Amino acid sequence: MFVCMRVVFSQRCRQPRHCRPRSRLETMAHSHDIPDGHLGPKLLASIAINVMILTAQLVGGVLAGSIALIADALHNLTDVAALCLSYGAFRVSKRRATPRYTFAFQRAEVLAAVLNAASLIAVSTFVSVEAFKRLASPEPVAGGLVMAFAAFGMVANAAAAWLLRGHGSNLNIRSAVLHLVSDSVASFGVLVAGALMYWFGWFVVDPIVSLVLAAWMIKESVGLLRTAANILMQGVPDGVELALVESAIREHPLVEDVHDLHVWAMTSSNIVLSAHVVLPCELDETERLKTVKQLKSMLHDQFAVEHATMETETTGVCTGMSCDKE
Ligand SMILES: [Zn+2]
Ligand SMILES: [Zn+2]
Ligand SMILES: [Zn+2]
Repeated sequence: MFVCMRVVFSQRCRQPRHCRPRSRLETMAHSHDIPDGHLGPKLLASIAINVMILTAQLVGGVLAGSIALIADALHNLTDVAALCLSYGAFRVSKRRATPRYTFAFQRAEVLAAVLNAASLIAVSTFVSVEAFKRLASPEPVAGGLVMAFAAFGMVANAAAAWLLRGHGSNLNIRSAVLHLVSDSVASFGVLVAGALMYWFGWFVVDPIVSLVLAAWMIKESVGLLRTAANILMQGVPDGVELALVESAIREHPLVEDVHDLHVWAMTSSNIVLSAHVVLPCELDETERLKTVKQLKSMLHDQFAVEHATMETETTGVCTGMSCDKE
């Protein structure tokens, strides 16, 4: 495939007015921008190549009686599903907010990731069940056919990776190339299995390679679920250290205290923060607003926080209901 992305995260900054990448983190957070014009044709090409590989391998797998080849084909099927879902999520994530969905549809990427993971788990479960049946009673497999169709998948994926090389600065493209290479390696594994069956008649290799492929798909789905779970559980995003955020806020000369500090990710590239900030009681309203503004721009520059909500308090007077108990 050209662009095999399990998840195309919604890469657009929601507030373009203040969105000038400055710090290293900020640059990282904004570096996965993929212009629409690029995504469409490449995505269609990826889907076309994948459909070709999976159709050929599925037919070949049934003809040869090889679970390993069918497993490789089904993996490519999950790639096609992933590409379609990612593209759908990407399109939906660019829609405007509505009165009901005030955050717009930014988290569509999370739903897409969960659905991708579900398809991988379903496929690897099916493959494992079939492979265990074969382990119990190995059946003859047409090794020559397996070699031919696996070679086709291997070459198609490797060619796609080769075409994409050099675009390595884009994180999404880089992970797409890595995925293509691992797809190619998977097909190579099936090819080796075909050779062993063709020349030595070791038919037990077919279910063994199938189980390895199933394990690989499970590993992929775990990675997807981990990313999705961190966003759904409002975990502190990777690359952000909560203690550093807190001390950066405290470093401001007017800040006396900070509590109720939350940092989470709206999407993988949109970091959000909320906090209670205690300021000296003698500050007037204008100075308070100025301080909050300074804090927000510091948080944006140092931690790529796109959206910060801060309540200003004075010592002993807390705006939060939960703060009374603290
Ligand atoms: Zn920004
Ligand atoms: Zn793949
Ligand atoms: Zn408070």
